Amino acid sequence: MQDMVVLDPRELPRRWYNILADLPFSPDPPRNPATGEPLPPEALEGLFPRALIEQEIAREREIDIPEPVMEAYRLWRPTPLFRARRWEKVLDTPARIYFKYEGTSPVGSHKPNTAVPQAFYNREEGIRRLTTETGAGQWGSALAFASSLFGLACEVYMVRVSYNQKPYRRILMETFGARVIPSPSPHTEAGKRFLAENPDHPGSLGIAISEAVEAARSDPKTHYSLGSVLNHVLLHQTILGLEVQKQLEMVGETPDVLIGAVGGGSNFAGLVFPFVGEMLREGRKDRYRVIAVEPAAAPSLTRGVYAYDFGDTAGMTPLLPMFTLGHRFVPPPIHAGGLRYHGMAPVVSMLYREGYIQAVAVDQVGVFEAAVEFVRAQGIVPAPESAHAVKVARDEALRAREEGSPRVIVFNLSGHGHFDLMAYDQFLKGELSPSILSEEELTRHLQELPRRAS
Ligand SMILES: *Cc1c(COP(=O)(O)O)cnc(C)c1O
Repeated sequence: MQDMVVLDPRELPRRWYNILADLPFSPDPPRNPATGEPLPPEALEGLFPRALIEQEIAREREIDIPEPVMEAYRLWRPTPLFRARRWEKVLDTPARIYFKYEGTSPVGSHKPNTAVPQAFYNREEGIRRLTTETGAGQWGSALAFASSLFGLACEVYMVRVSYNQKPYRRILMETFGARVIPSPSPHTEAGKRFLAENPDHPGSLGIAISEAVEAARSDPKTHYSLGSVLNHVLLHQTILGLEVQKQLEMVGETPDVLIGAVGGGSNFAGLVFPFVGEMLREGRKDRYRVIAVEPAAAPSLTRGVYAYDFGDTAGMTPLLPMFTLGHRFVPPPIHAGGLRYHGMAPVVSMLYREGYIQAVAVDQVGVFEAAVEFVRAQGIVPAPESAHAVKVARDEALRAREEGSPRVIVFNLSGHGHFDLMAYDQFLKGELSPSILSEEELTRHLQELPRRAS
């Protein structure tokens, strides 16, 4: 009986898997919002290093992981794959449930898998400082950690309400040496404008992106860094799915169902893309059942439309082809802060449109019920984001019981919830209420879309 499947460190994958090599359709390109024309990759120079811009459009199936990145990955990788045997008993299910645990990274989530290579490639091209935005602080702390490894300065624009209400991630970022600025701030023109309107502005992710991008554009030695959505981010995350493939092989298992929570789509892509690659190469959409789990409060795949839309709220980014709820839609403050995004990674969106992956939306109350049951069986406290995957793994296990048929369920537990205990507190006190996007609000935001795709 092996409940913890540990990969030999010498087996750490040396290449990322690039799904663009296997797509049976040509991906829709990003477009220039002013002209509607496809955006040439060079347009991103000044914000991102060349190596990452190349990865954004690369067609090689495998991309070598540079040795300094491998060395940094070895600080916490490979991560364990667990069999949730005690939880299976509680659920009285014939299913075998496995979960990949990314909470063992230095900041407690999958996000350093991309923060580390991003910091490395920027340093290689002579960049001295990275800017980014953060909501509750998951991505900010990953980039602060990665910047400290490669000697880069790191400036994080943190949504002001979170800066005031959630000090622990801020302190973590500062401990890594980052400068954390509550946004809107007086340091940028965009920030000044919002402060002039309202000196006590609570901020939003959209405003924080505008500030981080402006700060990067105003200095040639500074670049901007994004923690999800873009192709190169999804590419870096495949390290975790490639490990899972080896770990399942070690225990002689083949998955039937693969599950991940989706905000911008990066941890989900990291787990499932190596498996979806097999489906694409074999032309078999039924090879695995692949499920993206989104919050009912921000259901871009299940209730949004496939369209060209801005990546940010302020409308400063290129137009991306994706399932979206409209860029002006600011999701309500559910506890899974990392899932509060209006859009979905373009490649994840296209795979969904083509029927390679499925999606379900779940409400936060059911999510926390499942999470607490999981905690009491397995001892690991999932981040509220990851708990969305826990909930759907549970639903699948119960379906296996009803149907009386065994199956292998694999989900990604993208991070621990040690900084999110206030959310658990609220749930345990019975004070957590459902948060479901209303039809009226959905219609209003979809009307503001800049342009329909295909
Ligand atoms: C940020 C975050 C997510 C959501 O982002 P994706 O890009 O969709 O993966 C999920 N889980 C955790 C723990 C996060 O920090």
